[in-house]
Amino acid sequence: MHQESNVPSERLSADFTLTGGDFRLTFRATVPGGPSRMSDLLPLVRSLSDTVIGETCRTLEASGRRVSCASGCGACCRNLVEISQVEARRIADVVAALPEPRRATVESRFAHAKERLEQAGLLERLRVRDEWTPQEYAAQVDSYFALNAPCPFLEEESCSIYEERPITCREYLVTSHPALCANLDSAGVERVQLPLQLFNAMARWQAPQKGPFLEQWVPLVLALEWAALHPDEPPSKTGLELLRELLSQVST
Ligand code: SF4
Repeated sequence: MHQESNVPSERLSADFTLTGGDFRLTFRATVPGGPSRMSDLLPLVRSLSDTVIGETCRTLEASGRRVSCASGCGACCRNLVEISQVEARRIADVVAALPEPRRATVESRFAHAKERLEQAGLLERLRVRDEWTPQEYAAQVDSYFALNAPCPFLEEESCSIYEERPITCREYLVTSHPALCANLDSAGVERVQLPLQLFNAMARWQAPQKGPFLEQWVPLVLALEWAALHPDEPPSKTGLELLRELLSQVST
């Protein structure tokens, strides 16, 4: 699957190949050779996700279809956005690093969104999502979207943390008319099926299965409170060990 070589400055490179159906992605990854956390690999994982998406978009265009998502359409940013635990801590760090008064503004949006969830009777169940059944999952997704609560990072219908946006947000793409994404029943929405799902891998990595779901995730809207309660990342390993573990979880 890979070939290793030493490079200066205590980093290691290795070649990898991922396949999903007819899709094949070969890449060279350079990662820290010493003790590392998955958060150190997050830029690489995002880059892999962007590569898969880019290749998929090119294939779509060659067949006469194209992704219709564009800046200024934030309909999907009212969904229950699922992010990995690694990304939840990253989101908390991103917010903590914002200059004032912007940080206070974003934090107040998170607080306001939680108030709305509480008033709607959704907040407590969101906090125990690993207790959900598949039926409750479907109901919670619908109830959340019906609330029409924008993501705390959505500004003028565009993402204000575009470079830092979670992998879920990157992987949610449609080819149908953007207006259809605002419909509660999702009728007519055509999601792009990606050949490899990096969010799923991140959500499965070092997250023992609880209940019927393979993925353990955090609702984006609860990222700040979850990260405050779970500040410690899993023990460090070498970058290549982490990357191998993650890639073994990539689903098609
Ligand atoms: S992080 Fe950005 S792209 Fe993702 S839901 Fe929020 S505003 Fe939308």
